[in-house]
Amino acid sequence: MDFYVLEENEDKAMYELDLMANATRILEKYFGEYPWAKEKIGLCETPHLGMEHQTLIAYGNKFKYTKVGNQDFDWLLVHEFGHEWWANKVTNRDWAHMWIQEGICTFADALHILEIGGEQEYLKRMQSTARGVQNKLPIVQGDEIDTDQTYHGDIYGKGAFFMHTLRYIMGDEIFFPTLKRLATEPQYVYENTVTTDDVEKLFSTAYGKSLKPVFDLFLRTTDKLEISLKQTKEDKYRVQVLNLDDEIPMDVVTSSGKQKIIISKTPVTITSTTFPILDQDVYYLKKIIVE
Ligand SMILES: [Zn+2]
Repeated sequence: MDFYVLEENEDKAMYELDLMANATRILEKYFGEYPWAKEKIGLCETPHLGMEHQTLIAYGNKFKYTKVGNQDFDWLLVHEFGHEWWANKVTNRDWAHMWIQEGICTFADALHILEIGGEQEYLKRMQSTARGVQNKLPIVQGDEIDTDQTYHGDIYGKGAFFMHTLRYIMGDEIFFPTLKRLATEPQYVYENTVTTDDVEKLFSTAYGKSLKPVFDLFLRTTDKLEISLKQTKEDKYRVQVLNLDDEIPMDVVTSSGKQKIIISKTPVTITSTTFPILDQDVYYLKKIIVE
């Protein structure tokens, strides 16, 4: 590991490299070996905030850390370093699919938080990411689109949140190995490039069921998942998905506790003496219509 640091910051450099060593272990756990192990892990202090130059990350975050649990977190370091996998190793075929680089890299930031702070810190991070989603333009607007049109905030946050949604739908046992396959299998990496369809097909095949409706709703439209919730009797509620042709899991908190149910356009009835809370931990970008 090399750090080209300004002389006046030399005393801070070793600690930054400790953080980088930890980030390497976390990113390798989820995405496989550091992609440029035969060259170097490099960091260079710059006057601008940062950029993901391959094997030499530009670092301008001035050694500012936030606390996650009791550990220091340098969001800029973690994010730019994540691009060694997501951008420099797994590269979108054209800018129309730039969320693959920025969105999955931003999700990698959340996985770093999961590792150093635990599941609750991770959930808090994803909930705050959900609040930042703008939904003014879809993440994927077509093909062969230039950066000016593609580049907007949602390719980061909403892209990352989409991976969080997929994690919930697929379950960790399928989701994490599949994400690692995207970062390691030869057809997706280095001289090869990927599109949104490549990602969708990989995840659908691994899941054993098409995830295309979920990909299309969250990536190709600005719509939220719409769910209707209607009280039908004193302790009966009808739950129904309005705008997705698929069956999806959802947490519901009722008077008997938290359970996972499967919802779709076909209504299901749940029993509760209290008003049910759907998706309490926020795994979906959604709109609940109480009828
Ligand atoms: Zn980035």
